[in-house]
Amino acid sequence: MNRKVLILVETREGKLRNVSLESISAAKQVANEGEIIAAVFGEDGEQYVSKLTQHGANNIYLVNNDQLQTYTTDGYAQAFFQVIEEVKPDVIFLGHTAIGKDLAPRLAVRLGWGLVSDVTDVSLEGDEILFTRPIYAGKALEVKKIIYGKIFATIRPNNIPIGEVEIETPAKLTPFSVDIKDIRTTIREVVRKSSDGVDLSEANVVVSGGRGVKGEDGFLLLKELADVLGGAIGASRGACDAEYCDYSLQIGQTGKVVTPDLYIACGISGAIQHIAGMSNSKIIVAINKDPEAPIFQVADYGIVGDLFEVVPLLTEEFKKIKHATV
Ligand code: FAD
Repeated sequence: MNRKVLILVETREGKLRNVSLESISAAKQVANEGEIIAAVFGEDGEQYVSKLTQHGANNIYLVNNDQLQTYTTDGYAQAFFQVIEEVKPDVIFLGHTAIGKDLAPRLAVRLGWGLVSDVTDVSLEGDEILFTRPIYAGKALEVKKIIYGKIFATIRPNNIPIGEVEIETPAKLTPFSVDIKDIRTTIREVVRKSSDGVDLSEANVVVSGGRGVKGEDGFLLLKELADVLGGAIGASRGACDAEYCDYSLQIGQTGKVVTPDLYIACGISGAIQHIAGMSNSKIIVAINKDPEAPIFQVADYGIVGDLFEVVPLLTEEFKKIKHATV
């Protein structure tokens, strides 16, 4: 069965977010030679056309409207609804991001469609689409299918591999105007708090600190290590509650979910609520002076020691490797 698959493209500071390319990968798995349509909002949509095309989008809707320069629930929901009515897709993929989590349930209810959220894998069984997603704070995986009707799914960042770049066959470009009214919120200012522009939820390396880091200065040590590895800084809620760092860095059940290639937990005990946000990382390294700390149960490599000694040593060693390979 050929399917028409629509994806919502997310951009940040002039760059495509990886999760949008991951959504195209998911779309390719289920489209079965059907059409993949990408919807880009905002005035600078054309700059993303080439990359979206290379990764497999067949038709790109450029949706430009004064009301779409900054995300608002009302503005995006109205615009995306009109795109959906026009495209009439069978499946819609969004990122499992702040935007995707806000829009997908709202539109799924409005349209009466099924919704599977926080998807880490998609596959086909015969003609049916199977969605894999973590449950019980990441302790188990469930495989779900929607029995009838059309489908929304949100894709957890960093899980579905971005496909190889294909030989570019020009995508169709469809400028699309939307009618937006009655926006109930005004965005006055957007203040970003992530470290150095490395997006925590899409970072390949995360160096994360807990209460054991003991203060803001301790986080500077972690930052040096993260910089050498080209990674982002994360934190436990313990560290955020103690005001060692900002809550935007919190990882876990009530924070961000990350799945980097390498997660280095420094002075974090490993409470279940923290594990929920990082246990799907590919390699987990834990540094803790307590050999009984639960974090060692999920770690691939454990270093029992004082992080104030271990972290600078690691930074030095990674620096040497980096210089040797440049
Ligand atoms: P602690 O548990 O105090 O651990 C500090 C660790 O540092 C210890 O293991 C200690 O041995 C080690 N240490 C101390 N000094 C050093 C040193 N010099 N070198 C090496 N190791 C050292 N937590 C989250 O993280 N994310 C969430 O999203 C989250 N959501 C929650 C939701 C709810 C509803 C609840 C009830 C709790 C939630 N929590 C969350 C809190 C969670 O239960 C823990 O309290 C929290 O994760 C503990 O943070 P921590 O590991 O930094 O601190």
